[in-house]
Parts: sequence; C-alpha cells; structure tokens
Amino acid sequence: MSTLLIRGGVLYPADATDRVVPDGAVLAEDGVVVAAGPVAEVEAAIEPRHREDLHTIDARDRMILPGFVNAHWHEMFAMRFPFKGALRSASDRDDKPVFMALGGDVPQVSAVFDAFHDHIDRLTPDEALAIARYSMWTQLRSGVTTLGDVGSLNKPQALARAARDLGMRCTVSTWAADTVCAPGDSRFRRTRDTDLELQRIEELLEECSGDPDGLVRAWPTSVYGTNMSDELAAGFADLVARYDVPFATHVGALRNEAEVMLAYYGSTPVRRFADAGLLTDRFMAVHCGFADPGERALLIGAGAHISHAPAKYGQAGESTLSETRMIPEFRRAGLDVSVSTDGAAVPLGGMAEAMRAVWQLYNEMYADPTEVLPTDALAMATRLPARGLDQGDRIGSLEPGKQADLLLVPADDWRYLLNPRPLEGFLSLGGSMDVQTVIVAGQVLIEDGRSTGLDEDALEAEYLEALSSFTVRCLAVDADAVEAALRRRSEVVDRRRRARARHHTGWGNGR
Ligand SMILES: [Zn+2]
Repeated sequence: MSTLLIRGGVLYPADATDRVVPDGAVLAEDGVVVAAGPVAEVEAAIEPRHREDLHTIDARDRMILPGFVNAHWHEMFAMRFPFKGALRSASDRDDKPVFMALGGDVPQVSAVFDAFHDHIDRLTPDEALAIARYSMWTQLRSGVTTLGDVGSLNKPQALARAARDLGMRCTVSTWAADTVCAPGDSRFRRTRDTDLELQRIEELLEECSGDPDGLVRAWPTSVYGTNMSDELAAGFADLVARYDVPFATHVGALRNEAEVMLAYYGSTPVRRFADAGLLTDRFMAVHCGFADPGERALLIGAGAHISHAPAKYGQAGESTLSETRMIPEFRRAGLDVSVSTDGAAVPLGGMAEAMRAVWQLYNEMYADPTEVLPTDALAMATRLPARGLDQGDRIGSLEPGKQADLLLVPADDWRYLLNPRPLEGFLSLGGSMDVQTVIVAGQVLIEDGRSTGLDEDALEAEYLEALSSFTVRCLAVDADAVEAALRRRSEVVDRRRRARARHHTGWGNGR
C-alpha cells in the first residue's frame, strides 16, 4: 500500500484538545495515521523512502474530518413499503401522531418490535445482503465510516458481509428479544426461547472475534427492556463479561416507558439493567431522556455512555431532549454523550444533521452558544462514540497510531466566504450530501460523492429487486402497489441515465 498524504485543508483532528489546524495535513502509511497537524510538520515526517510512492490528495479549500462513528443505527430498509414508508400518500395533511409520539404507545412499540423477529427469519440470504449493501452505502455516502448496529431488521451475517464489501466498519448485533408487553395485557409474555436468543448472539461474537481485516466486530444489544426477560438480561451480562465487549440498549426512550415497565415487570427500565449487572462504564444507554432520580444517579455513578439521535426526535414526535433536559445534564455531569442517527425504513437525518441538531438544540436550551461548540458537536460524532464502541484506541480521531478513517468536505462556496471557521458554516448550512470524499483505513471509498469500487446504480437496482420480492412474499403488501412504485423509480433512473449519456456525448468527446 502506498503512503497517503492529504494536504492543505482545515484539519479538525477531533483529538482530546479539540484543536483546529487551518493549514493542515494527514499522513498515513498502511492505512494508519503517522502524522496529523500543520502541513510543514506533517511533510517533515515523510520518510525519504516513501517519497516516491506517495499518493497525495489536495485538500485545499476543504475540511479534513475524522470519519463519523454512528454507534446507534438499525438496518431497516426491508420495511420501506409497509412501515411509514413508500405506501404513504404524498400529502402529509392527514398525518396522525402514533407509535412513539405523545410519550409513546409502549405496548404497541413492544408488539411491533416482537414481530420484527419473524421478518428477519423470512429474508433470504440474497435479499438480506442486497438490502444491507444498499442501506449501508447510504451511511458510507454520508460520511459514516463506522456503524454500531443496535438490532436490525436484517441478518447480522449480511451486515458483516456488506461491511466488508463496502470496506466500512460495523459492529454487528442480533435482534435479541424474548418477551412482549402486549397491548391489553398486564404482565409480560414470553415469545421466544431465551437460550436460543443468547446462542445466536454468542455464535455471532465467536464468528466476529479475530476478524481478519479488522472491519467487523460484534456486541450484544437489547432492542428494548420491554422485550427482554430478566433471564435474557442475565445472559447478556454473562456474554459482556466473557467476551469483554460493550453492551447497548434503548432505555428511558419514551415518557410512558417506566409506567409500562413497572406494570409488566414490576421494576423501572434502568433499574432492570442495573439489577442484571449490565450497568457499567461499558453500558451504552440509547436515547435515555427519561429516568427517575435514583436511575440517573446509577447511570452517572456507573459512567455509562449516552447515545442519542437529536436529528430524529422532532420528526418522530419524541420529546427526548427538551422535556427533561436529562441528556444535556448527563453531559454536564461528565458522561460521554454522543450523537447517532437511529434507523428507519427511509433514510433519517445523517451524522451531519445530528451534529447540527445537538449544536443548535443544546445552545438554545441553555441560552448559551458555548454549551456545545462546533468542535464539541464534532467530537460527539467521532471521538466519543468511538469510545462507546470500545474502539477509542483505534478510531474516532486523526492522531498517530489511529486508523486513517477520514472525510473531505468542500469549504469553498458562498457559505464559507471570509469565515475562518468552516465547521461552523457546515453546521449552519451543510449536511450529509456535502461529504465528498470518504476514506477508511487509507482506502478511498467515495470520491467526488461517488463510490470508487461499486456501481451505485446496480446497488440500488439489487436493493429494489430484493425489497419487492421480500415485500410481496412476506409482508402481505399488494404486488401491484409495489410494482407501481418501482415503475415510477425506474423512470427516474432511466431519465438520469439518458441525461448522463447526453452529457458524455455532448461534452466528453470535445465536440
Ligand atoms: Zn434506535
């Protein structure tokens, strides 16, 4: 592998000092950062024997950022048709707040999560892979170099394979759930064999230990306390200890959650994880905007990690941040608080949008523009979530010894004119689509916003084919409705192809 020099941009290494280097550079050898800092300093670090095979990327008028670490994500693209997706009307005028809105219909959420399990088993391996590859490409395209799967409507083996195909990092998991708090009931009901759930995740932990290319890892996760027996929780704690891995779960996500958990299980959400021995500094609490004072003290005392998805809450009708201010207060109390995207059947706001949301919302809540600085928002999307995935020693910042996972974002248009702080301009007016170059372990995977190794039209076509076969076969969705939606899409693709062909014949040959 040649030595890679990225030279001349505004460098945000997201290291512990959160420094900014206006004329910066990064040098990587064999996919590992050797130097990051001012251009002159980095160029001095190039060994003479490497000068000949040096591959240089000009980063002038661009920002150099570490790759985004999206530690809480779900692959859900198989549900594009039935699940608030492609079959909705074009008008939003008749929308009703349901499911997770208004504090959450928690038994309904629990029932839906319980049903996902069977859908995963019905996906064929080919469908699972095609859906995973397209879904994960949308993450990579928006600057995510590392994903943390907190339970997906897909097969973990497909996610692992897709990560390797795309060249990105993913910590995979299973959709682990063995109970349901069904609507109308007053106690939880067991729906699946606990040992089988634990066996699935243990097999995955085995498969992913010692991954040859270092891209894929595994961790146990619980979908939601509402769908977890005490026995499953105890089994998770055993796996965390034996495999020396972190653990993640959605907890304290909805206002109505504690009431339902008390009724169905006789205990509150965070306490159940604490009682199982899971509440340690390797516990990633996802969302976690609702907890009683005792639970809050438990989370702070344990040094838990909080991951939240601020670009998604308004869209879903979740008051996770502002109703209690608990998450910003956890951050003030010294916990690692990171941002993530969550997952849905359609693409949600990406990491860039999550950074913007956390920057604007926290500062608004505290009437203080220094509560979250732009560089704090960046750390919450890079260095901190890397720690939450227990990979803080190798990814999340651009420092010698770390993996060369980085992004280039152009900063040369009207948004940045005479602004010495391009990250601020990016958070104000930029977004996922501005990510131009994505590099993982020194490999350029996205260049000029396009995949360097994969045919993106083919990725999309294979996704749509897998989606339609799964949807019609397994989800009782009308085949004509699916076909009509796909026909509209293929017309768009055809127009795009014709436009590209015209562009090539008109200009590419110099006529
Ligand atoms: Zn989630």
